[in-house]
Formats: sequence, structure tokens, C-alpha cells
Amino acid sequence: MKYIDEFQDPALARRLLDDIHSTVTRPWALMEVCGGQTHTIIRHGIDQLLPEQVELIHGPGCPVCVTPLEVIDKALEIASRPGVIFCSFGDMLRVPGTGRDLFQVRGEGGDVRVVYSPLDALRIARQNPDREVVFFGIGFETTAPPNAMTVHQARKLGITNFSLLVSHVRVPPAIEAIMRSPSCRVQGFLAAGHVCSVMGTAEYPDLAARHRVPIVVTGFEPLDILEGVRRAVRQLERGEHTVENAYARAVRPEGNPAALAMLADVFEVTDRAWRGIGVIPDSGWRLSERYRAYDAEHRFSVTGITTREPAACRSGEVLQGLIKPHECEAFGTLCTPRAPLGATMVSSEGACAAYYLYRRLDLRPPQARPATTPAPPAGPTAPLEASPVA
Ligand code: SF4
Repeated sequence: MKYIDEFQDPALARRLLDDIHSTVTRPWALMEVCGGQTHTIIRHGIDQLLPEQVELIHGPGCPVCVTPLEVIDKALEIASRPGVIFCSFGDMLRVPGTGRDLFQVRGEGGDVRVVYSPLDALRIARQNPDREVVFFGIGFETTAPPNAMTVHQARKLGITNFSLLVSHVRVPPAIEAIMRSPSCRVQGFLAAGHVCSVMGTAEYPDLAARHRVPIVVTGFEPLDILEGVRRAVRQLERGEHTVENAYARAVRPEGNPAALAMLADVFEVTDRAWRGIGVIPDSGWRLSERYRAYDAEHRFSVTGITTREPAACRSGEVLQGLIKPHECEAFGTLCTPRAPLGATMVSSEGACAAYYLYRRLDLRPPQARPATTPAPPAGPTAPLEASPVA
């Protein structure tokens, strides 16, 4: 298959690995930002093929995983209301809120529908003018443009029974927060290629220079990951810290101008809480004043939400790279993809799901495992600055 098979070629992978092995002279810790990259790494055992001096730390780039519990609980509350049709991508339905998920709301009679595009939700709104239709708009810079375009379209068509429950997040402020954390171990980043295909690379040179970290824009196939690692390690060994584009078949420096224009029209930057991490300044988007009438949080005043994370779940530490998923005591026992305790076990991009799916189990006896930080108490998460990020 064009652009798939070529990027899984074992002979080329061997050459890249040989190059990395011959380049490395000391330990380096790289963070792959995106959960899709984490799945490629674990599925193909890339981390096990790299020299032991190169550690890959899994980043917080899983959109489902970082959607804050408070927003999930708001979704559950809105979806439970009579007269509401609540539309979402399928992976959000099993994400646990405080005590239940959207599947349970549907089981209790709520009209919760899985759609494949926000435009499907808009079509449902047109077909049901006497109902309120809400689309759950979550994710990074990749899903924000179609959601922005749908709201723009709703306004243009005069559709007033449609709204968006927004929880969009942005990658560069998260990298900034990670690098500012006192216990940060990350020395280089594999940036998410699909995000850069929308946003371009203009936001990264300043980050790379300020924090003296190489940032390599990287794709999602095995050879993409190896090439990203190869370039990052080469820079680190040379003492360099620049932005490189290793995903040029999809990413242009200027990004996608049409998508950027739509984002600028519909959204404005805001502080945003990340599940398990805390509030990161300027790390999200909300609907701008012009589109406030389409904001589900304004349309449905949801108050009195008290969030409660399961005490056993350590997904906050997983998302911050403090522990690997199989170091969580509940991994594979109390928590499985069929009965997940945390979003990182639900999502197809979640690190816990990757470790479970590809049988990455820690079979060492407890005394032989690396020491881990104690599980934090259940409750609201602290801001990232106060909560160490690996
Ligand atoms: S294995 Fe389950 S309980 Fe443990 S951190 Fe992952 S999602 Fe949470």
C-alpha cells in the first residue's frame, strides 16, 4: 500500500537503527508527543530495538485522555436532559466520568449518538428542529478545524438548535509546561506530524531555542518514528537544538492556511485544564464571542458538578511520563479495556491501552521493578508546575 508498506520496510528500519546505534554515546530521553506515535512504538517494539541509552517517554498527546473530568461530567449531564441529542465520536462513549459514562446515559434513555463527523451532527440538527443537538468537540489542533467549520456552517445556515461542547487543546503550550516542570527529564521532542500539517512549524523554533531542545516533526509509521529519533539523537550528540521537519510529505512550514483562517475566525485561545495534569495557560481553544451562541456550556447552564477520579487510577502520572502504564497496580487486573478505570485505557491512542493491547506486561517481581512515585490522592489535579512532569 502506497505510503504504508514503504514506511514499514524492515531493511530500511535496520539501517536507521544501525545509524542510531552508531551515533549514541550517552543517555538521552526523548518524548513522543502523540498517542498515535506511542501506539506505533509499542506495537512494533521500537523502544526495545533502540540503544538502551535512548529512552522514549510517552507524552500527553491523546485527546481523549486529556479531556478533563469536569467536561466529561458536563457531557453526561447535558446528554441526560430530555430533548437533547448528544453526538460524539465513538471513543468518548466509554470514557469514565464521575461514576458513569455516556454508554450508561444511553442505557438510561439518553439520546446519545455516535457520529463520524461534526457535519453528521449538524445534519441531525437540521432533521430535528424541535430538538437540541450537541456535538462533543474535543481534541488537538487536528480536530479543531472541522469543528470550527461546522459551527461556521451552522451560523451561515441559521441553524440555531446546534451547539458544541468544546474542550480543544494545543500542543505548544503543553511542551512549554513540560519543559518548565522542575523535574523535567525530556531532552528532545518528536512533535506530532498531523498537528503540524494543520498549524505548520512556526510555533516551535522559539520553544526549541528557549529550552535548548531539538524538536523533530515526526510522522506515525515505524520508519517515521525511527527517522525522528535518529534526527533528535544526532542533534543532541552535536549539542544542537533546532526544529527539523521529518514529515515533509505531509507538513509545510506554513501549515494549512484555510484551516488556520477557520480556527482564527471561530475560536480564541484560553487556559485549559488537562485531565491528570492540571491547568496549562493558553493551552486550549474556546468559541469566540462571535460564536458564543453555539457554546453548549453557555446554552445549558451546568452547575453543581463535583468530580471524583478513581483512587486506583494513576493516569495522571502516565500522562506526565512519571510511570509506565504497567507500573500501575490496577493495570490488567482492576483496569482493562473492557472495564477501564481511566481514559488512558479507553482511548485507541491511550498509553495504557497500547501496553495492554500489545502485551507489554511487567513480569518482573515487585522488588526488581524500578521505584515509582506513590499514587496521588483522588481529587482535583494540581497545576502542572506543581506536579512534576518527567
Ligand atoms: S492502567 Fe488503568 S487504572 Fe492504571 S493508570 Fe492506566 S487507566 Fe488508570
